[in-house]
Amino acid sequence: MHVVESRRAAREWVASRKAAGESIGLVPTMGALHRGHTSLVRIAQALTDRIALSIFVNPLQFGPVEDFQRYPRDLEADLATARAAGVDLVFAPPVSEIYPDREPWVTVVPDRGGDRLCGASRPGHFRGVLTVVAKLLGIMTPDVAIFGEKDIQQLMLIRRMVRDLEMGVEIVGGPIVREEDGLALSSRNRYLSTDERGRALTLSASLRECERLFDAGETSAERYLEVIREGVREAAVLEYAEVVDPETLEAVDHVATGSLCAIAAHVGATRLIDNTILGPSSRR
Ligand code: AMP
Repeated sequence: MHVVESRRAAREWVASRKAAGESIGLVPTMGALHRGHTSLVRIAQALTDRIALSIFVNPLQFGPVEDFQRYPRDLEADLATARAAGVDLVFAPPVSEIYPDREPWVTVVPDRGGDRLCGASRPGHFRGVLTVVAKLLGIMTPDVAIFGEKDIQQLMLIRRMVRDLEMGVEIVGGPIVREEDGLALSSRNRYLSTDERGRALTLSASLRECERLFDAGETSAERYLEVIREGVREAAVLEYAEVVDPETLEAVDHVATGSLCAIAAHVGATRLIDNTILGPSSRR
């Protein structure tokens, strides 16, 4: 496994692989790797010849009072995880390599959908995400890039960006990987105390409850929201619970196959998100 820090070395590796006729899959991450990330590596391996995984905690997507400074960073452990997963190249640039001008002159701002859901409480977050993803796609020029459905709004906005800006890369989504008890894997789970971890389970549990409602034929979105509010009450402070159309991110009144139930909540000082796409239980 190659490990590079500079854009130039990353580009050279990509050029050599492409010259050998190999296709490239990119898995962008912020590190603190877990099974959610390695599941995306496996998806990439099934689709492309060589896998590049980037590790970059992107300051542009963190708000001024968010956890950029304390975000978990453990490059040695991440390299071991990436190696074991069969990653071919790790691109782990310092901030100065991605933002040489500190403040970029040009960024990617979503005109629609970026101020809904997570964007409502995190102004500028998706500008940061789209800008860094555009940069990573520009540096690595992968054939395919894989993103998790855990961050479904991010995935949807990246798909829109790639389409609207003709970026010529295939975007593939990977299903949410969960712990045995339902908790969605997240690098931020390591912030949770034992008690908080128990309370965090109410997010996935209330989404499972929504799936049961769907299987029972319930179509009123309000009913789903009640179930979520009731489910997390006392355990977590709900930032939002919404049932939306996954294409437009607009709230729906009537739930249908494909409707997206999305939650963000604070458990202690930790902000967690989770979601489920409603559909026949056989497809979940
Ligand atoms: P992050 O390092 O948190 O920025 O995540 C990097 C990528 O891994 C993103 O595309 C996430 O959506 C994805 N990811 C994070 N957690 C999970 C999970 N539990 N299941 C599937 N994908 C995930």
